[in-house]
Amino acid sequence: MKTLYLSTSKQDMRIAAAIVRTGGLVAFPTETVYGLGGNALDPEASKKIYAAKGRPSDNPLIVHISDLSRIEELAARFPDNARKLAEAVWPGPMTLVLPKKDIVPDATTGGLRTVAIRMPADPAALELISLSGCPIAAPSANLSGHPSPTRWEHVRDDLDGRADAVIMGSPCVGGIESTVIDMTEELPQILRPGLITPERVTEILGVPCGYDPAILGRPDPALVPKAPGMKYRHYAPRAEMRLFSGERSRVSAVIKEEAERCRSLGKKTEVLMYEDSREAAERLFEDLRRADSEGADVILAMALPEDESVAFSVMNRMLKSAGYNIKQV
Ligand code: AMP
Ligand code: MG
Repeated sequence: MKTLYLSTSKQDMRIAAAIVRTGGLVAFPTETVYGLGGNALDPEASKKIYAAKGRPSDNPLIVHISDLSRIEELAARFPDNARKLAEAVWPGPMTLVLPKKDIVPDATTGGLRTVAIRMPADPAALELISLSGCPIAAPSANLSGHPSPTRWEHVRDDLDGRADAVIMGSPCVGGIESTVIDMTEELPQILRPGLITPERVTEILGVPCGYDPAILGRPDPALVPKAPGMKYRHYAPRAEMRLFSGERSRVSAVIKEEAERCRSLGKKTEVLMYEDSREAAERLFEDLRRADSEGADVILAMALPEDESVAFSVMNRMLKSAGYNIKQV
């Protein structure tokens, strides 16, 4: 298939919406990462998404809406707490898991009886959803296992010839995927950490909000994550990635020394260090992709101190990228 590259002009957005409406796939920008979208109510479109990404079919898709009133069509229940969160955060980087209605096909939810719903903040995403007139199922627009795409060029690198169209929108400002929150139980629970933190959820709802125990610490075969996607190895650069944690100046010195050693052995070596967790979120996936495209053999990265929730969210991705190769110095 030949992939169309579209701008965000009204005319191009109409073309993109027509592709979605007729069962095709369009990659589009969101404020978190780029998504690969298809009509969420069309099982054939969802199957095409899994095939294009090489995604395991038990890993459900997030359904994107542009208008809160569409929730009633998709979710069998919309508890008050979920509504409060939606009203406070959407459009924004938060996904709510709710019991699903029959209209949402099993192909979209990986056979689960729940559906994950989000309203993204990028204006082009909202326009695409409203012009196409249907909710849009969209996972990240990368090949399964690769770092998520935060620029349209990353989507081209992974999915050229596999998607009907790519919208050449803005780079993503958030940089990591949305916080996924289970709203099917009495209390909210975070299934995938992101930029919307448990503290923010508690501030909005006035009730405690914890993490799914399966996403704390290293993967444990005895604990199955409630978000099926969290069990897969993600974000893996081709290079060997190693993390170093400890006091900042010490880590910086150790990484510098190790980089010199690797380079002296003829290994192309990339160093990643961030000022804070926000900067790390925005740049991590882009930096991993750049290291790969420049042919790095080794990536040496400074771990973030997990003393606040956004740092925890970024470290969740960094640890997976590095295959849990982390050294305390
Ligand atoms: P991606 O769209 O690639 O960012 O991945 C979506 C994430 O949301 C994956 O980790 C999924 O497992 C998770 N997810 C989607 N739908 C559900 C659901 N109904 N219940 C729990 N987790 C879900
Ligand atoms: Mg993904």
